[in-house]
Order: sequence, then structure tokens, then C-alpha cells
Amino acid sequence: MQAEVIFTGTELMLGQVLNTNSQYLQQILASWGIDLFYQITVGDNLERLAKAITQASERAGLIIISGGLGPTEDDLSRDALAKSLGVPLVINEQALKIMRRLFDERNLPIPDNNLRQALVPPGGIVLDNPIGTAPGIILEHNEKIYILIPGPPSEFKLMLNKEVEPFIIKKLGSERKIIKSRVIKLSGLGESTADQRLGDLLQSANPTLAPTARFSEVHLRITSKAESMDKALQMNAELEEKILQRVGEYVFGTDDDTLADVVGRQFESSRLTLATVEYLTGGLLANQLNAIQNPGKFYKAGLVIGSNDPGIENLIFSPLPGKEQAEQLADWAKKAANPDFSIAVTGEIKESGKGKKLRGTIYIATNYNGKTRSGEFILWGLPQDIRERAVQLSLSTLWRISRGFGQGGR
Ligand code: ATP
Ligand code: MG
Repeated sequence: MQAEVIFTGTELMLGQVLNTNSQYLQQILASWGIDLFYQITVGDNLERLAKAITQASERAGLIIISGGLGPTEDDLSRDALAKSLGVPLVINEQALKIMRRLFDERNLPIPDNNLRQALVPPGGIVLDNPIGTAPGIILEHNEKIYILIPGPPSEFKLMLNKEVEPFIIKKLGSERKIIKSRVIKLSGLGESTADQRLGDLLQSANPTLAPTARFSEVHLRITSKAESMDKALQMNAELEEKILQRVGEYVFGTDDDTLADVVGRQFESSRLTLATVEYLTGGLLANQLNAIQNPGKFYKAGLVIGSNDPGIENLIFSPLPGKEQAEQLADWAKKAANPDFSIAVTGEIKESGKGKKLRGTIYIATNYNGKTRSGEFILWGLPQDIRERAVQLSLSTLWRISRGFGQGGR
């Protein structure tokens, strides 16, 4: 079954409200195994809305309309549906009850306007709305299914889950397919290595493999479509196994894992502690390490150096930044907080060359087991991007080293 979705609301067109119903609905449709080929947003205008419904009917078997079911003049979804399909709207007793319930509970009179909300095309199924006054509608017409759901996100979600899902699952019957995704997360894998080792897998049609990259992280999304959840999970697992064989050394996690989570878990499981020093990244590294569930256990201390001015000379011996200075900071953190492991990240961002592009030089130093190590990295981009990448590089360094802890690395 192919679906098309129409989001209504001038507020969405003006960027005043973010279309969160869209993301939610896309995920739900995928989980039902329904393909979504088009989605459109239309302002509160009867002509355009009716036209959108007519066009959607030419392309899809399932047309979902979000919003525009309220009592006011600009709530036009019912009228647009009637206009597009050439069907009448009549007062529906069940819709009237749903609409009245909220007013009765609060002992309020029903404004005349609200009667509009009880208008349903003959033969339409009325969907309950326990937290609002607008009933939803399902109408089967000329072998197409039209579903109207109120726009407020909490009403939208509840109705979709409680009322629409059982209807759709029943409709789909044995035609029902499951779409299930799994994300494999890698750090430090270059584009050319990725191409070389994974190129052929990217062509696969089911499961599909879609890479996305942000800085030095690559996320590989595996998506399988199958008759059952078990089968989809098995297909995902088979492709994951192939990926692990080819690029396993770069894989740090799956699905919702972040590098900081995994670093935290590795430190926790090996009962090691950490301290950090940052210059240039303004506490971003500390922030990420603190965002994990239980940072207090492994994360002992973090120092953020904001300026190169006097006041910190007792920490270091020459002006920041620099490779040696990073090493001195890592050594200092080790002495000051007595962790098992310390890391210092420093650097500078300068305009470079004729084009005056921004160039970041980043120094990362670690102290572990009495050894100090350091590296230098060149990064280009906007200052905030350079800072984020410097943090990612630091986390990646922590991840690589802490991976060895469990294997007698201590
Ligand atoms: P109501 O009875 O509240 O008027 P409705 O079905 O008429 O319900 P709309 O008027 O279209 O819904 O939208 C009501 C409010 O719900 C909007 O002002 C907006 O804040 C929110 N909303 C509508 N559509 C979306 C959407 N796609 N994503 C997120 N929020 C939305
Ligand atoms: Mg409205």
C-alpha cells in the first residue's frame, strides 16, 4: 500500500510551528510497512487543500490528512475532503457525542461553531478523541482510504496509535510488511576506505544500507522489509555481520549509542577513572561525558581553560596552545586529580591563506600508565564545527584507548 500525507496549517507554512507530526507519522508508516512517496504541506485554504486531496488520490491508496479538524473557519479538512470527492457532510451522532463530552465534563455550554466538528461524510467511520473535541474520520471511497486526524501532536499521536493503527493492520492483513532499521555507528572511517570495503553492500535493495556522515563519525542505517519482525531482524543481523567483518575495527556502537556513552561504559567496566582539560572547546568535552547516565563514577574532574592570560601559569610553562603544552596539561591533570587516565585538548583557530578560510590546529594529549602521548590535527570549517570535531576526536581517542583496557591493557 502506498500512502500520501497532507499536513494542513498556515502556521506550518510560516515556520511558526515545527511539523513534528511529520516525523512521527513517517516512523509509524515505516513500522506498518507502508511506503510513503509524497507528503505535502498546505495552508488553510479550501481550494488548495481540495486540490491536494485530489492529486493525492491519483497517486496513493491511503491518504492521511493532519490538522484542520477544529471548530473555526480556518479548519477546512472536512470541507476539502467533501469538495474533492463530491460527497456531502452530515451531522454524525457519534461525532456529536465525542465533541460534547469534553464540554459536558467541564460543565461548559457548546458554542455553535463546534457543531462543525460533528460533520462527517455518510459512511465515514468516526475516530474517538479522548483528549480533545475534534473526532477523527476514516472514509473509504472509490477504493481509497482517507484518514483525517486532528493536528495537536498529543491528539494526533493518541488517535494514530489507538484508532488508526488497528484499522490499518486489519486492512493490510497478510499484505502487511514490517520495516525495521538498525544503525551501526563508526568512528574514524575515511570515505575512501568506506567505499572500498562497503561499496557493493550499498547497492543492496532489501535490506538497504544508507550511510550518513557527520565529521569523523559514519552511521550506517540498515533497513529490512519483511513479512514478520523476526525475519526483518534476521535480515538486519545478517547484513550487520557482513559490515562487522569488513569494518568492525571502526564500529563503536549501534542505534542510540553515542561515543561518550561507549567511552563511559568502557571506563566503568574496567573501573578506571578519567580527568580532562580543555582549552578552545569551552567545556564541550566535559559536557558530553557528563551527559551519560552515571558520569560521577568514572569521570573525576574537568578543567576548562577559557583564556591564555596569566592565572594559569602554574599549570603550564609556555603560552597555549601547542603539542608540548597539551602534554603538560595532561600530566598536570593526572597529578591534580589522580585519575587513571587523563586527556587534554587544546588548539587554535586562525584565518589561513588568500581565501581566509578558517583553519583549526588541534592538539590532543593523553597520560596513562606513566606514558604521555600526543597528536596534532588540522581541521577546516566554522569555529563551532571545529570545536565539535575536536571533541569528537578526543572522544574517539578515549574510545580507542579504553577499548584496550578490558584486554589487559592496564
Ligand atoms: P484544533 O481543534 O486544536 O484546532 P485541528 O485539527 O484543527 O485541531 P490545527 O488547527 O491544524 O488542528 O492545529 C492546531 C495546532 O496543533 C496548531 O496550532 C499547531 O500548534 C499544532 N499542529 C498542527 N499540525 C501540526 C504538525 N504537523 N506538527 C506539529 N504541530 C502541529
Ligand atoms: Mg484548528
